Amino acid sequence: MSVRKDTDPVVTGIAGRLSALGGRSPEEIIILWLCLLGTLGVTPFLIARLAIGDILLAAVNSLTILGVALIAARVWVTREVRPYNAILSIFYPTIMVTGVHLEGLVLLGWAYPTLMVPFFLLSPHVALGIGLVALISLLPPIVRGALSPVDAGTVIVTLSLTVMFAWVFAVETSRQRRSLHTQAYSDPLTRARNRRALEDTLRHGVDPGPLAGKAASLILFDLDHFKQVNDEYGHETGDALLVELVDTINERLRRTDVLFRIGGEEFVVLAIGADAREAYQVAEDLRALVEGKRFTDHELAITISLGFAEVRANDTASDWLKRADLALYEAKRQGRNAVRCHDAGSFTFQ
Ligand code: GH3
Ligand code: MG
Ligand code: MG
Repeated sequence: MSVRKDTDPVVTGIAGRLSALGGRSPEEIIILWLCLLGTLGVTPFLIARLAIGDILLAAVNSLTILGVALIAARVWVTREVRPYNAILSIFYPTIMVTGVHLEGLVLLGWAYPTLMVPFFLLSPHVALGIGLVALISLLPPIVRGALSPVDAGTVIVTLSLTVMFAWVFAVETSRQRRSLHTQAYSDPLTRARNRRALEDTLRHGVDPGPLAGKAASLILFDLDHFKQVNDEYGHETGDALLVELVDTINERLRRTDVLFRIGGEEFVVLAIGADAREAYQVAEDLRALVEGKRFTDHELAITISLGFAEVRANDTASDWLKRADLALYEAKRQGRNAVRCHDAGSFTFQ
């Protein structure tokens, strides 16, 4: 499946929101900052070493700046985080350890910032692993150096504590991030993924991503005359019905289909691998499923209207959603409890 990145800012609604996306991810920004700061930190030393003719360390400094510039350029151009997050996480400590081995303990101060880098870019445990390997690699120069046993012990303990503090902080931060992610990307009432999750999936996961090169369809659906349920049975019953509806639909969906609640009583199924014919089958199954079920303690009968569209070559996420939206509108217009495809000309159904 090929979906272009959105650049068209004029579409409104869900489609408009999708169009507005396109900034760099936080991970990209962190890598670029770490590259920039590293370069700014090392450049004065390169100039000073060239000035005094310390060619060996000037070469190490040049190598650092060159490596970092290459990593930054790759991230900037490709907008990929992997594998550059791992490369940078290993590159900085490696250069630092090399410097200490070459020049001795005067360069040990660089251990403190460079051992932090993996904690910004990788999982806490992997970062801890890199930190410990770097610490062990630093032991020979520390032990061999001209430090008293107490001073050598101080260096080892403070470096170890720095790594451990960073690890504790990273573990807690990543736990909070997971919890925030769940809150940010799921709807508190039904626990379905929310509109932001759909936007993110279409932005990051479509092209390139796990969906690249595959057929896929978006199925939009909306409850019919849902306002009447609220009016007659109250908002709480309406809420309970929405929860039951999501559970019912999720039970029926295939493993490759993902359900999103994108508005009050509007939902989207992203059917990965489904061309228009399969999407129609899924949509029709869902329509019949809802029609045949009774919801809440009141045994309410409700129906849904569905519109779907298969992704087309060069679609933007906005184009794609908009076509499914038009199909849903058509299903509503033609009397509800129905499935409509945006481009019914390409195949026949019903
Ligand atoms: P249509 O067939 O044209 O879609 O009619 P409808 O009544 O479903 O559509 P309309 O847009 O007029 O009303 C949607 C209703 O959905 C209005 C609102 O009260 C209800 N609704 C939206 N979100 C929630 C929610 O979270 N809980 C409950 N209980 N009701 C909600
Ligand atoms: Mg409705
Ligand atoms: Mg609606």
